[in-house]
Amino acid sequence: MDETRCVKTVFNGFRHHQCRHKRGHGKDGLYCKQHDPERIAKKNAERQRIWTENSKKRAEARRRRDLIDELCKDIPTNELHKYRLVKLQGSSQNTNRRKGKANG
Ligand SMILES: [Zn+2]
Repeated sequence: MDETRCVKTVFNGFRHHQCRHKRGHGKDGLYCKQHDPERIAKKNAERQRIWTENSKKRAEARRRRDLIDELCKDIPTNELHKYRLVKLQGSSQNTNRRKGKANG
């Protein structure tokens, strides 16, 4: 173990070896900038936050589509076209996912 380098063990696709970057970051300065556990934790938390935010948005979008379906279930498709509701709905990104869903 090289005492001047980051303590993180990395896999190079062939074998595990000590990270070759200089240490000086993280707790007791044992890590390189890239492997600083605090930085990694922060990054993961940010990723988690974005994921949660997006899944809320997805759930909301799904709820709206379901609501539109529910509200429009008795209206013939050509009537919906007339009011551009079908076009509005079809323009959302997840059109493919709705294919094959049974009506009613
Ligand atoms: Zn490192």
